[in-house]
Amino acid sequence: MLKIRDLHVSYGNIAALRGISLDVGKSEIVAVIGPNGAGKSTLLLAIAGVVRARAGSVEFDGRAITGQQPEALVTTGLSLVPEGRHIFGSLSVAENLRLGATVRRDRQEVARDIDRVLAMFPILRERYRQRANKLSGGEQQMLAIGRAMLARPRLLLLDEPSLGLAPLIVAQIYEAVRALRDQGVTALIVEQNVGRALSAADRTYVLSSGVIAMSGKSAEFAGNA
Ligand code: ADP
Ligand code: ADP
Repeated sequence: MLKIRDLHVSYGNIAALRGISLDVGKSEIVAVIGPNGAGKSTLLLAIAGVVRARAGSVEFDGRAITGQQPEALVTTGLSLVPEGRHIFGSLSVAENLRLGATVRRDRQEVARDIDRVLAMFPILRERYRQRANKLSGGEQQMLAIGRAMLARPRLLLLDEPSLGLAPLIVAQIYEAVRALRDQGVTALIVEQNVGRALSAADRTYVLSSGVIAMSGKSAEFAGNA
């Protein structure tokens, strides 16, 4: 589904990614783990076209998307949930979700998609008319994922969805990610927390100083850890 080959990204003379190759198969959840500064966010931003690759290629469903504009992302079938729960704090949960419906479609279809998100995160149904800045961190993360879902992606790019959240909330979020996979939406997740990544993902890549140091099935990693 996603095929990355020999991807290089630099910020000035800082080489953030130095020849990354990575695959995400259809209905497979993949995690990228690594310490702070390893290049995890850069990888997602490069896939999304927010930062430019110096060399290498990104293919999605057999189509080259290297160098495409970030605005083109939604029509490609990718949706990025950046680090830091980017939502509109002064708008309600309902409004935030509706804003995610970036691809033009029928009101009823949007309502159905919103319903699906509320079924996935029932707490958001209770908070539906509340302003987003009144939500807890976990609820805001659920809202950020829910809003990304309104773009109807086939692949979600999640940047540290568990950051700063209680284990119970993280478990709920990852449960939702797995449920989405069963509906045909898969995920590439960047995580600093190794345990969480390994338990959520089918396959894991370890990123270190801009290169893939290791990769394999998460179950095997867990066994060796
Ligand atoms: P903001 O401060 O609003 O996040 P910036 O443009 O300063 O906006 O940064 C965008 C992102 O890039 C941030 O996540 C920030 O942490 C990261 N960033 C910017 N400069 C550096 C740097 N020199 N080293 C590491 N990360 C950086
Ligand atoms: P991670 O997400 O794994 O913490 P990043 O992708 O944010 O890593 O950063 C990878 C490297 O690129 C780090 O050395 C970081 O300092 C640098 N970096 C990230 N963003 C910027 C930026 N906007 N400008 C300059 N350097 C950056």
